[in-house]
Amino acid sequence: MKILFVASEAFPFVKTGGLADVVGALPPVLAGEGHDVRVIIPDFSAIPYEYTAKRTHVCDFEVQLGWRRQYCGIEKTERDGVTWYFMDNKYYFGRPYIYGMGGDEYERFGFFCRGVLNMLPLLDFQPDVIHCHDWQSGMIPALLKIQYAHLPFYTGIKTVFTIHNLQYQGIFGIREVQDVLGLGDSLWTDDKLECFGCANFMKAALVYADLISTVSPSYAEEIQTAYYGERLDGLLRARKHDLHGVLNGIDMKAYDPSADPIIEKNYNKDDLSGKSACKEALQKELGLDISPDTPVIGMVGRLSNQKGLDLVDYVISDIMRQDIQLVVLGMGEGRYFNLFSWAEGEYKGRVAARFTMDHNLAHKIYAGADIFLMPSQFEPCGLSQMIAMRYGTVPIIRETGGLRDTVLSYNEFSGEGNGFSFFNYNAHDMLHVIERAIGYYKNRKDIWQTLQIRGMTGDYSWTHSAGEYMKLYRSLFEQNKPDEKAPQLEKNPVVVEFND
Ligand code: ADP
Repeated sequence: MKILFVASEAFPFVKTGGLADVVGALPPVLAGEGHDVRVIIPDFSAIPYEYTAKRTHVCDFEVQLGWRRQYCGIEKTERDGVTWYFMDNKYYFGRPYIYGMGGDEYERFGFFCRGVLNMLPLLDFQPDVIHCHDWQSGMIPALLKIQYAHLPFYTGIKTVFTIHNLQYQGIFGIREVQDVLGLGDSLWTDDKLECFGCANFMKAALVYADLISTVSPSYAEEIQTAYYGERLDGLLRARKHDLHGVLNGIDMKAYDPSADPIIEKNYNKDDLSGKSACKEALQKELGLDISPDTPVIGMVGRLSNQKGLDLVDYVISDIMRQDIQLVVLGMGEGRYFNLFSWAEGEYKGRVAARFTMDHNLAHKIYAGADIFLMPSQFEPCGLSQMIAMRYGTVPIIRETGGLRDTVLSYNEFSGEGNGFSFFNYNAHDMLHVIERAIGYYKNRKDIWQTLQIRGMTGDYSWTHSAGEYMKLYRSLFEQNKPDEKAPQLEKNPVVVEFND
């Protein structure tokens, strides 16, 4: 099959979170199975020189955005059996940030979406499926059906849209989006593009994509409820027969404690001694007291409410009353910068916080910590808990989304489990589980080691999920196969209208 991935980030080129890990890891797995897989991302200036130095210029053209005509260059590189395209426009992507600060996100990513569709006939590649990821590529399924599908080149192309995080939807004024993408007034009704009086790139994708997926089975269920649905739960319920939850994997080679060149000493499930060396090195590097018996709790991730940090805020003094150390690596909201900066001063030698994007330090924390804390309010999939388990670091999670699908709380009666968890979004529930985990760490080394080894031997590879995606892609071409379980819903609106 010929599959084009469209996303705003892909590891190792540019990364702000788990989206990049997924878009960096899944295409090579699919390509390894013999498919022609290509990826396009914006050519952000944050992409390091080592990746931009040896690229080939594919083509360039102008993209019409309302009254504007903008240069669009396509560069490419080959890596891991995949062709990676980069969309070049210095005005939109040559900025010192990736997202959010210019107030013209609709124009930047409107350009990106239109540019992707316009470049296709200029390539040696006509995709069967365009697989779009998150709101930045969300207008593609809509533009394709509304403005391009009647052109022979585009007629047979199907779209899949994956929700990596429903919270970020790309919400803008209708007039602004119309000005850039030229979508006529008749399209701005609530069954099409309008969303609570606004334009919404995510909603556009959820209405017009042929199939929708999200990154864990639990999140696929959750987002159909008002609590998790971010005001799109009604639409997601209406499309529930087209909505699939496919659990993300991690790059098992990049995150491998037995071969990771970044960490102090390699180790594996049969000999965990290297993990103690990693812990000591981490304590030394971050200025913590060197204390082999004190459990180190690690946190790596965006400092946002989503990650449950308000729970940590609420009980931090109770957490720190235990004999533990806390290591935090993340960027995000000022509130949490203040919290952890304060804690670092208050608990000298016991708390270390770093507010940068530091890939190497992240590896050192996954390897050097004993416990990985991830009490998310919601978590579409979460990669960090899987990475932590791979390094023998026992997770404490809240039972939501992909966390619930990957971590099973230790059951002292049946002996099952690979971590610890709590259900209610409640700071004291979290605190009690932290105390429980510390109890096992200190007093039941045997059980602790069992949990570590279970985590280290878990299968977090992409093999299974890649197969699930292939099934989804193939199902798009099974001619009108009725789903016995599904009532015959009205098909997506296909509006043959070109208002540009
Ligand atoms: P999300 O996509 O919601 O940000 P995930 O758990 O799915 O969360 O993925 C986060 C990824 O980003 C992980 O690979 C994690 O290690 C990495 N990461 C997050 N913050 C940082 C940081 N400050 N430095 C290095 N890596 C980070």
